Amino acid sequence: MHFDFSDDELAFRKELKEFLDGELPVYFEFFDLPPEERAERSMAFVQLLSERGWLTPAWPVEYGGSAQAPWQQMILAEEMVAHGEPRTGQYMNVNWIGPAIILAGTPEQKAYHLTRISKGDVLWCQGFSEPDAGSDLAALRTTAVRDGDEYVINGEKIWTSNAGIAEFCFLLARTNAEGRKQDGISIFLVPVATPGIEVGDIESVLHPGAFHHVLFTDVRVPASCRLGPENEGFSIVRTLLANERTGVARYHRAAGYLDRIATWCAERDLLDDSAVIETLASARAACEAARLLVYQVYDEKTRGLDPDVSAWAYRTAAVRAERVVNEAAFTLMGAEGLARHSFADSQFEWAVTAGVAGGSYEMQLNSLARVLLGSKG
Ligand SMILES: Cc1cc2nc3c(=O)[nH]c(=O)nc-3n(C[C@H](O)[C@H](O)[C@H](O)COP(=O)(O)OP(=O)(O)OC[C@H]3O[C@@H](n4cnc5c(N)ncnc54)[C@H](O)[C@@H]3O)c2cc1C
Repeated sequence: MHFDFSDDELAFRKELKEFLDGELPVYFEFFDLPPEERAERSMAFVQLLSERGWLTPAWPVEYGGSAQAPWQQMILAEEMVAHGEPRTGQYMNVNWIGPAIILAGTPEQKAYHLTRISKGDVLWCQGFSEPDAGSDLAALRTTAVRDGDEYVINGEKIWTSNAGIAEFCFLLARTNAEGRKQDGISIFLVPVATPGIEVGDIESVLHPGAFHHVLFTDVRVPASCRLGPENEGFSIVRTLLANERTGVARYHRAAGYLDRIATWCAERDLLDDSAVIETLASARAACEAARLLVYQVYDEKTRGLDPDVSAWAYRTAAVRAERVVNEAAFTLMGAEGLARHSFADSQFEWAVTAGVAGGSYEMQLNSLARVLLGSKG
C-alpha cells in the first residue's frame, strides 16, 4: 500500500489549514457556547465552507458536490476535527444522511434536501436509538402506521444528538411487526417542528444540549416523507454505517492532544524519563495505527470496494487511540489533568464516549469476529 498524498492534496490541506487558522480561534471553545449560539455560529461557518466547495466535495456535481476523490473529504475530516469540528450535525449530514438520500431519495427529496445540505443551511438529527434498542438497533419499537396518504408515528428515541436545534430528523420506525425484525423498518425524513414531537434534554458528561430524548405522539407525516421502499430502511442504513464509523477523524484530534501533552512534559523537563517516553510513544503508535487503517478504508472506497471490514477494524483502533491518549494524559499530568479545559479533561470527554457513539466498541469487535473468525456471536 502506498499512502503518499498528491501535490494537489497537499496544497489543499495547506490552504484548508490556513483558512481554518484564520476563521477559528486557536482554542475554539465552541462546545461551551449555549446550544442556539453554537448552532448559529456553526451554520455561519459551514456556509463559508460551502461557498468554497469544501462542505460536500465528494458528492456528485448534480447534488452540490464537486466529485472529488474521497481523499479530499478525509483531509477535511482530519483538519476540521483538529480545529474543533465546529460543524455540529453537519458531519452527519455530509457523511451519510446526504449519501442515504442520494442512494434512495425521490427526485423531489434529492432536489430539496441535498441542495440544502450542500449549502450548509440545515441541521439534522438521527433518530435511531431507543431505550431498549441501542446495540440491537433492529429491536426498535417506534411505529409508523400507514393511514391513507400519511403515516402516524408513535414512540420514543433517546440519545438523539442535536435534536434541540435540528430542523429535520432522519428517523427509523417500524412499519411491519411480522417476520425478521430487520425487515420491518422504514426511514422517514421528518420535520422536527411537526405537531406531536416533543424534544427534551438529557444531562450528560458532554456539553449542554448534547443529548435529547424525543417523544412521538400521533405524529402525522405525509407518505412522501418516507425515504426508499417501505420496510427496506434497515438495509439502506446498513450500507451507509461504514461512513458513520469513519466520518470523524478522532485519531487526528487525539494525536494533536498528544502533541500538547508532550509539550507540557518537555516544559517540565520530563522527556529524559524513559517511562514518560514509553507512555507518549505507545499513545502515538495507537493514533498512527488508527490513521493507517482509516487510510485503508478510504483507499478501498476510492477503488470502489466495500470497506465494511476495514471500517470495523479502524473503528476499534480509533477507540483504542482515544482511550490510550486519555490514559497518557492523566498518567503524565496527574491532578493538573483534572482542571476544566486541560488537555486531559477535553480528551476524557472524547474518550469516554468514543466506544459508544456510532455503535459500541464491543459490537464492532463482534462484527469483526463474525466476519474474520466465523464466530456466531
Ligand atoms: C456521543 C454520542 C452520540 C450519540 N448520538 C446519537 C444520535 O444522534 N442518535 C441516536 O440514535 N443515537 C445516538 N447515540 C446512541 C448510541 O448509538 C448508542 O448509545 C449505542 O448504539 C449503544 O446503545 P445503548 O446505549 O443502548 O447501549 P447497549 O446496547 O445497552 O449496550 C450497553 C453495553 O453492552 C454492550 N453490549 C451490548 N450488546 C452486546 C453484545 N451483543 N455483545 C457484547 N457487548 C454488548 C455494549 O457494547 C455496551 O458496552 C449516541 C451515543 C453517544 C455516546
